[in-house]
Amino acid sequence: MSLHTCDSIVISCIDFRFQKYIRTWLDENLKGQTFDYVGFAGGVKDLPIILNQIGISVKLHNIHEVILMNHEECGAYGVESTPERHAKDLKKAKEEILELYPKLIVQLYYLHLDGTFEEIK
Ligand SMILES: [Zn+2]
Repeated sequence: MSLHTCDSIVISCIDFRFQKYIRTWLDENLKGQTFDYVGFAGGVKDLPIILNQIGISVKLHNIHEVILMNHEECGAYGVESTPERHAKDLKKAKEEILELYPKLIVQLYYLHLDGTFEEIK
């Protein structure tokens, strides 16, 4: 098997309304970099699936960075789709990722319907 590595993994929701914004953001912010890109309904909502996917990217592609994107008005969250809940889930995901893979850099974003990327610290 050939050895191939990439820089990062990007995980976002499947929601089609955000894909054009995400593509533009990736073009601008990850220019010249390589990354795995996956979409799950709800972004980080189903954390075990996210952790499993990150584990695969670590193992197969030796990634050093994780970029997580949740978004406003997410159907997978329904009435629970508040900025506070997304920030909480994103931070929780970061915590658990760093417990498993302390060397990874984890960036968190909350996407607004107008295409704005809000970084969650
Ligand atoms: Zn969504």
